[in-house]
Amino acid sequence: MPIGVKTVDRPEVESSYLRATLKGMALTFKHLVRPVTASQQYPEEKYEVSPRWRGTHRMAVHVDGRAKCVACGLCPTVCPANCIKLIPAEDENGERYAAVYEIDEFRCIFCGYCQEVCPVEAIHVGVHYENAEYSRERFVYDLERLCAQKHPFTQLWDPEDPASE
Ligand code: SF4
Ligand code: SF4
Repeated sequence: MPIGVKTVDRPEVESSYLRATLKGMALTFKHLVRPVTASQQYPEEKYEVSPRWRGTHRMAVHVDGRAKCVACGLCPTVCPANCIKLIPAEDENGERYAAVYEIDEFRCIFCGYCQEVCPVEAIHVGVHYENAEYSRERFVYDLERLCAQKHPFTQLWDPEDPASE
């Protein structure tokens, strides 16, 4: 599409900015006395987010507190941001577990693929967004921290119920 160029000529006569200034001040004053309706008093007031909100991860655990992850390797393989670090190990019974499992929440794009692909419903994105930190290192959640999260798991999209009703 061609870009149109509009030439604006400078005014020939001297003009006063008084009227425009007064107009601007009147608008400011109008907003000063008008009751505020749009501001949200965060953090006292918070919007309720959708159950399909994809935020901070959470690892599901067994009743004894062990992470449900069986170190299959699917989630680091499918992760488009390459932000999951997994080092698998085997216990004395030959059961696989994650010796190291980390997610860099700073690199994550919250696509939810890890949750969708997990065969044992271990890793989940969560209904949670208050995860600001003061350093990049703090955004790397290790297994202990992922297991300690308590927010709700994200509800996956259901093609049978596309609007979640
Ligand atoms: S939500 Fe997506 S980007 Fe984030 S860790 Fe999971 S697969 Fe990777
Ligand atoms: S997909 Fe699930 S079981 Fe497999 S490594 Fe990831 S969290 Fe663990």
